[in-house]
This record gives sequence, C-alpha cells and structure tokens, in this order.
Amino acid sequence: RAKERGGDRIECFTATLSQNSLERQELEQCLRDALRNGELQMYYQPQFFMDGRLAGAEALLRWNHPLLGPVPPVKFIPLAEENRLILPIGEWALRESCRQMALWQASTPDPLLLAVNVSALQFAHGDWDTCVVKALEDSGLAAERLELELTESLVMRQGHEDVEPLHRLREIGTRIAIDDFGTGYSSLGYLQRLPITTLKLDQTFIAALQAEPPEMSSEHIVRAVIQLAHSLKLTVVAEGVETEGQRDMLELLGCDCLQGFLLGRPLPADGFEALLESVATRRFLGTRRDPEAE
Ligand code: C2E
Ligand code: MG
Ligand code: MG
Ligand code: MG
Repeated sequence: RAKERGGDRIECFTATLSQNSLERQELEQCLRDALRNGELQMYYQPQFFMDGRLAGAEALLRWNHPLLGPVPPVKFIPLAEENRLILPIGEWALRESCRQMALWQASTPDPLLLAVNVSALQFAHGDWDTCVVKALEDSGLAAERLELELTESLVMRQGHEDVEPLHRLREIGTRIAIDDFGTGYSSLGYLQRLPITTLKLDQTFIAALQAEPPEMSSEHIVRAVIQLAHSLKLTVVAEGVETEGQRDMLELLGCDCLQGFLLGRPLPADGFEALLESVATRRFLGTRRDPEAE
C-alpha cells in the first residue's frame, strides 16, 4: 500500500501497521460480544461415501457481524486462539452442533457422522474430554456419531500425558480425525501412538490432482496415503473436491469419503435439513419405484 501511494514509505508503513492493530483490537472486542449477541452460527458441509450416500457433515463456524458483515474463519479463528476466546467459542460450537445432529439423527434411520474441529488450545485445556462427554450426554448424540478433527501440528506438539484424554474419548467410541493431513509434520509416528480413525487429505493434494499440466506426483502421494491409511484400517476423507475429474480419480484410487463444493457447500442448519429431506424423499421413491418405468 505504501508503494502505491508513494511519498514517505516508512510513514505510510507505520500508519498501516497501527491501523491494522487498531482493526485487530476492534475485531477482538467484537468477537468478545459475538457469542453473547448470537452472531455465531454453525454451518454444515455434507460428506458423502463414494457411492453417493450421505455420510454426515463437518460443522464449520460462521460469524456474521451486524456492521462488518460475514467475517471468514481464517480471520477470526486465529484471533480467537490468540486471546483464548476459542475456549468458550469452541465449546459452544461443539455443544450446538451435537444438539443439532442429535435432532437430525432422531429423524433419519441412516447413521450420520458429525465432524467438529478442535483447536490446539481446547486440546491443551485439562478437562476438554469431560467437556466432550458432557456435550454428548446433554445432546443425546451417540459417541460413535462424533468425529473430532485435530491438526497434525497440534497432535505432534503433545507430550504423552496430554494425549490421555484422546484415548479416553476413543475408548467410549468417539472418532478421531487428522485434518489437513499431509501439510504438517513429516513424522508418521503419531499414527501408531494415537487412537486415530480417519485421515482427511488436505485440499492442496486434491487440487493438484487436476492441475494443468497434470502433476503426476500428487496422484502418487494420494495413492500412497490411501494405501497407508487402509493398511492401518483408517478411513480416508478427501477435502476440497471441486471437479468430476477429481472425484473420478479419487474413486479410482480407493478413497472412502468426499467433501467439497462439487458435492455441497457448507449450509446453515435449515439448508442441511432440506438436504436430509431430499435424501429421505429419494429413499422413499426408491422403495416404491415402478419396475416397468425403468
Ligand atoms: P478445515 O477444517 O480444513 O475446513 C475445510 C475448509 O475448506 C472450510 O473452510 C470449507 O468451507 C472449505 N471447503 C470445503 N470444500 C471446499 C472446496 O471444494 N473448495 C474450497 N476451496 N474450499 C472448500 P472454512 O469454513 O472457511 O474454515 C476454514 C478453517 O477454519 C477450517 O479448515 C478450520 O481449520 C477452521 N474452523 C472452522 N470452523 C471451526 C470450528 O468450529 N472450530 C475450530 N477450532 N476451527 C474451525
Ligand atoms: Mg476440519
Ligand atoms: Mg481440513
Ligand atoms: Mg483446511
């Protein structure tokens, strides 16, 4: 910006810096009020099995500020992590999405999975597994229906004693996913050490599957990750699937589940409910389909 305006670069740079920190402070104050004022919302992005059946949803936070408009997660989640607001916000996100999924689960015979993102701070917090158990109990959602998404960097940072809550949660049936798999540390030792059930292949690998010119290496990486996962009896979810070509390739490579704009964007609760209804309608029509009409 300093370069565009010309003039005294250092002065402009300083002005930009302090303006940014002012914005940050304002944003921080707004975020403090957001939870209380009901400005936070959960969105649900559908996940599908390779045969097209609905597998469940990833719960994603959305913040719509009355004046600022929608603030993207990449902007407010790092901020919330710095000032520890992610603790109450993360707890609310967990409880709200469990409550919602338990209601949906009660209205459909198909088992649905709810994936919830967990930040490093929540993980480091002593009683976070108690918090999860409480959210399950209060909502009535079965532990097997919940998948906690952790990042590689988070998992690598933990000492042995800190992963105890993870083992306790896995013991009651909760699923544990590694989010953005392949972008963090290269050590794979934690796959042995931790009770992981799912790898979520990062969208950068998926995007590279359809790159022009084609990147053969990413195809090999995706193939290898899927083989590794399956030999460890883990489920593989591909994130950020945007094209038919990517889906076809992932099917060929033996991926288990898909998530991405091709199949469905994150939806507010009523939007996801409409999706559930259309799934139910299709099933109903499917069972009474006239064979002569085929
Ligand atoms: P993530 O957990 O890896 O979530 C996937 C992100 O990819 C979401 O972005 C989703 O909207 C986006 N996405 C899904 N399909 C596609 C696609 O086909 N193409 C592209 N380009 N993007 C796709 P979103 O919702 O903006 O969230 C960004 C990140 O913010 C999340 O990445 C997660 O790390 C964090 N986040 C979101 N909600 C929560 C939450 O409740 N708690 C915590 N701790 N973090 C959250
Ligand atoms: Mg995630
Ligand atoms: Mg991810
Ligand atoms: Mg991501």
